[in-house]
Amino acid sequence: MDDPILLVVGGDADTLASLAGGLERRFGADYRVLADRSPVSALARLRDAGDRGEPVALLVAEQWMPEMTGIDWLVRARELFPRASRCLMLRYGDAAGIPLVRRAMTLAQVDVVLMQPWGSPEERLYPLVSEALAGWTRVSRPRVEILRIVGDRWAPRCHELRNLSEQNGIPYGFYARDSDEGRRLLQESGHAGRLPLVIFHDGRVLVDPSDGEIARILGARTEPGADPYDLVIIGAGPSGLAAAVYGASEGLRTLAIERQALGGQAGSSSMIRNYTRLPARHRRGGARHPGVRAGVVAGRGVRLHGGKSSAWPPAGPSGS
Ligand SMILES: Cc1cc2nc3c(=O)[nH]c(=O)nc-3n(C[C@H](O)[C@H](O)[C@H](O)COP(=O)(O)OP(=O)(O)OC[C@H]3O[C@@H](n4cnc5c(N)ncnc54)[C@H](O)[C@@H]3O)c2cc1C
Repeated sequence: MDDPILLVVGGDADTLASLAGGLERRFGADYRVLADRSPVSALARLRDAGDRGEPVALLVAEQWMPEMTGIDWLVRARELFPRASRCLMLRYGDAAGIPLVRRAMTLAQVDVVLMQPWGSPEERLYPLVSEALAGWTRVSRPRVEILRIVGDRWAPRCHELRNLSEQNGIPYGFYARDSDEGRRLLQESGHAGRLPLVIFHDGRVLVDPSDGEIARILGARTEPGADPYDLVIIGAGPSGLAAAVYGASEGLRTLAIERQALGGQAGSSSMIRNYTRLPARHRRGGARHPGVRAGVVAGRGVRLHGGKSSAWPPAGPSGS
């Protein structure tokens, strides 16, 4: 398959060369980096890529270009490649551009903003682009299925298992028992009885496992440690995670107990746009990020306190 395209568009030759060069150095092994000074010819390139069935992962545009603005270009490019991540470049101090960018982000016309100059690419450019590419990959590339669930489409337990996997960010596939793939999986496993059947990535097969069993197989802790804790938090939604982070960072031996999924209700949202604990690279200077995927809220909460002393078992209701 063709390497996915990263297309950068900008009227300023130096900026374009520096950006395309930086992207080529870091991402050139896996992506095809293209640069164009004209937004009109860049759109023509995209049309050609579409005709040839080539994937486009990232679109980057300078806001101020002679033929059209970067926002307008990204809107038009989106019509050709709806899944591509979209990045707008804006200069510091661009008073005219900032309100336009705010509006564009509110209308979801732009995913990320790269402020110029970005200085060392390691600090802002590469993390921003990596995150944008990760977003594209999640929706556009086949993924490894850690769990394969086989069952009846409308069975409540199948719904619970899908929900649990979704909220905990566990890549999974669901196969209806009467689908070709479902039948194939059942035949391969030699199982003809009760459903749902859960097939793990390592080949283990369980019939209607509890949430706790799944959590343990995937390596989550479902029992507290033997030593006493200074602080125990029940519930690892945004509030519980924040409390755990502060407790652990103050040196308290902290335990956060979660019965379903890190991130709480926020785990049901595809994108949290006003999350207060964005990492420094998104808040300081260079880049603004439009939001955080719900699963990332949870993961970030855990990473923020460095896994110092809390456990986070996604165990079933009885496990909490
Ligand atoms: C679809 C959706 C989209 C949203 N989008 C946004 C948004 O964009 N911006 C925004 O600011 N807010 C948003 N919210 C609201 C936001 O998610 C909530 O305000 C926030 O999650 C509340 O956090 P919390 O930690 O107080 O409670 P919760 O998120 O409810 O977390 C409580 C946690 O405690 C766990 N728990 C409960 N009882 C037990 C027990 N006995 N043992 C163990 N664990 C237990 C639950 O499983 C849960 O994980 C959204 C909510 C939803 C549902």
